[in-house]
Amino acid sequence: MENLLVLTHVDESGAALTKASLESVAAGVEFAGALGAALVIGIVGANPDAAAGTLAGTGARVLTIAGEAFAQARYASDAAACKALCRAAEATIVFAPASSRFARVIPGVAYRLGGFADTHITALAKSETLEATRWFYRQRIEAVVKRETRPWFLLLEGGTRAAWVAGAGEIQSETIAVTLPEMRSTVSGTRAPKQDEQTIRPEAKILLVAGAGWTKKQADGQVHAAEAESLILGFLRSADASLGSSKSLVDQGGENQTVLKVMSHLNQIGQTGSTPRHAKGLSTCCHGEEPHVVGWRFINERRAISLDPNCGWARGKADVVYVADAFKVMAKVNALLAEK
Ligand SMILES: Cc1cc2nc3c(=O)[nH]c(=O)nc-3n(C[C@H](O)[C@H](O)[C@H](O)COP(=O)(O)OP(=O)(O)OC[C@H]3O[C@@H](n4cnc5c(N)ncnc54)[C@H](O)[C@@H]3O)c2cc1C
Repeated sequence: MENLLVLTHVDESGAALTKASLESVAAGVEFAGALGAALVIGIVGANPDAAAGTLAGTGARVLTIAGEAFAQARYASDAAACKALCRAAEATIVFAPASSRFARVIPGVAYRLGGFADTHITALAKSETLEATRWFYRQRIEAVVKRETRPWFLLLEGGTRAAWVAGAGEIQSETIAVTLPEMRSTVSGTRAPKQDEQTIRPEAKILLVAGAGWTKKQADGQVHAAEAESLILGFLRSADASLGSSKSLVDQGGENQTVLKVMSHLNQIGQTGSTPRHAKGLSTCCHGEEPHVVGWRFINERRAISLDPNCGWARGKADVVYVADAFKVMAKVNALLAEK
């Protein structure tokens, strides 16, 4: 019989589990049932008891790792915590959220326990045994993976299933002791951009993509980069959108051309960029060439604003194309959002 362990960790408040952790919990509940496996849920955090309450209704045995050493992410303490939870649960299959905290420790934990880790899992299924799906080669090839090696660690991509919602009942958790190795790293704090300076927002409902057209000479023969930046940032703020870019726009910095300061290569969408998941996407001043549009694979509803009626978007790649000046359209959209 399989023993299924779901590894989870607390969020920044320290009092709740992250959304990605709760998605892994939902996967654990579903597949423990399907596999006839015993379900154990492990929590890592300074004071995990408050967060344990959200596991009511799972029917799982709940194990916690508690203490100040686990308040923040650090490889040595997190790896020791996950290893202790795997041992205590005698885990044969382990689900964990592909968060930055766990994605970097799980392969090491799998190695220490003689197991195997698979990353970027987007779907799970049960036939005779557990099957995990992931994409390769920039989302062009979809593979279904089965393994006999145990323990088998699966890092589940965020946003691929609904999060667990607490049911009725109380949780009795057991605290597991961990022997920490000598700590060479001390976490002195976190330095991160303020939320409104952070332009990549994976949880946003809408993705705004800016293309190179924003920094090209416009009808008056001039470049309007400052206006472009202000229109883009205005929309991001009012719509709480995430910001993507075409490759041409972020590459311009290296060519000493006009750049938008809010952009970096991290914003790039496409074949050599990212493939984000958002309910809607709005492309502006971008030509919609295939190497860019391939990154829109998981955007459900696509709209584009381009001056060029023959752009790639107009050739069947968008649901709606506005053949219009994006400066004018976005100024109007921002004004309407401000009224709201
Ligand atoms: C191997 C390879 C990998 C690549 N990977 C990627 C990738 O990952 N991501 C990516 O993006 N690209 C990638 N590319 C490049 C891609 O093919 C295109 O060159 C790039 O996406 C073009 O960017 P763009 O549409 O912003 O710029 P442009 O092609 O310059 O298009 C600008 C558009 O803006 C429009 N425009 C200008 N002013 C306005 C205005 N006022 N209002 C409305 N529209 C306006 C113009 O009509 C034009 O259509 C790759 C290419 C190769 C060969």
